[in-house]
Amino acid sequence: MRSVRGPAALPAVGRLLNQPAYRRLQERYPRRLIADALREQLAQERASEQVAGAEERLERVSERLAVWTAPQLRPVLNGTGVVLHTNLGRAPLSADAAEAAARIGAGYSNLELDLASGRRGNRADLVAGLFRRLTGAPAALVVNNNAAAVLLALTALARDREVVVSRGQQVEIGGSFRMPDVMRLSGAVMVEVGTTNRTRAADYEAAVTERTAALLFVHTSNFRLTGFVEQASLSELASVARRHRLLLLADLGSGAMEAVFDEPVVPDALRWADLVTFSGDKLLGGPQAGIALGAPEPVRAMASHPLARALRVDKMTLAALEATLRERLLGRPSPVARMLVAAPEELRRRAAYLVVRLAERGIRCHLLEAESAVGGGSVPGRGLRSWLVALEGPASALAATLRRGEPPVLARIERDLCCIDVRTLLPAQDDLLQDAVEAAVAAVTGKGG
Ligand SMILES: *Cc1c(COP(=O)(O)O)cnc(C)c1O
Repeated sequence: MRSVRGPAALPAVGRLLNQPAYRRLQERYPRRLIADALREQLAQERASEQVAGAEERLERVSERLAVWTAPQLRPVLNGTGVVLHTNLGRAPLSADAAEAAARIGAGYSNLELDLASGRRGNRADLVAGLFRRLTGAPAALVVNNNAAAVLLALTALARDREVVVSRGQQVEIGGSFRMPDVMRLSGAVMVEVGTTNRTRAADYEAAVTERTAALLFVHTSNFRLTGFVEQASLSELASVARRHRLLLLADLGSGAMEAVFDEPVVPDALRWADLVTFSGDKLLGGPQAGIALGAPEPVRAMASHPLARALRVDKMTLAALEATLRERLLGRPSPVARMLVAAPEELRRRAAYLVVRLAERGIRCHLLEAESAVGGGSVPGRGLRSWLVALEGPASALAATLRRGEPPVLARIERDLCCIDVRTLLPAQDDLLQDAVEAAVAAVTGKGG
């Protein structure tokens, strides 16, 4: 017995599925999925007491199927100027790195097999040689992200013991990654020293007891203290650590391989610290990963800890990371590096060209000079001079329409104008951007389309 409210009885799903129109849909979708879409559609008709015509019903069902099977993770154009935008996936991979991930992901590989001996291999060894060459690090371990690297380091090296850290370095990184919380999770006992703005090496030394396992240096990636500020340097901490036979751990966050924006440099930090951790997808410009470099003993202790198994990286990440490191060794800049060093004159030319092309399509816009940010919790307070395409018209409506377009474009509002910062557009995206802007302006101003 079917309980159908309303005047007309609704047809049965099974009967509809055998109709030619729904049979044709089965060339593109499994019968069961179509049945689900039909059931949902009929339920809606029942609830609203509005029986749809055959054509309208077919259209609604097709729409449902299209929505259900559309990719949710989609490429977007980054017009924000924020180079390492965590919400937009941080570092765009180089073509080589993306290709390596796709190629290795699509087949079998020697992920944990030493091809020479036929014996079981170690996946971190695949990139250890590249890291050694690039930084001098004797040993390397790669995990899922830097938060995982810090958690693993503290768990494997300082569980149930004390770790001395400066109050000025108790950083919270976007997405509620709090150093103190991670430390608590690891089972290490955190001993805070100094004040928010001043911590000297002597403060660390005074906190050392027989329970102390390590000194921890955390780079304050996403804020800068200025003014009356003092933080002990890694070299000063290294002498305290040496005197008391403690480990010195340095969480660098951004992972700069050479001097850039006054960020701590990985090879320099390795001269002082026993272990250095940083992200793969910040200044390194690779895939999301947590990289731990350092002396063989702490790295081995981390690698053999059971938690390492839960935090390990997969083959696609390793493939992309290896390609990123190889390109660096060959002196080829990553997309992130290119964006960060793009000269203002070059950006101005690119933005000016876009303005001309958009104006040809009747879109009112002009050049605007502004600053872009490094982002990703890296290099705070450091603006990069850039040039924007400023669209004239209602800024927030334009930005929302661009964001909902295909491809979605993330703009930013500058001086009450909807702007596109060309620094973070990839080289091949200028044509896509023009089409997207044209569509959005037409939709907002209600003309053309
Ligand atoms: C970014 C950052 C982290 C977190 O790194 P993820 O790779 O995002 O997990 C940890 N510590 C510092 C100092 C950072 O800058």
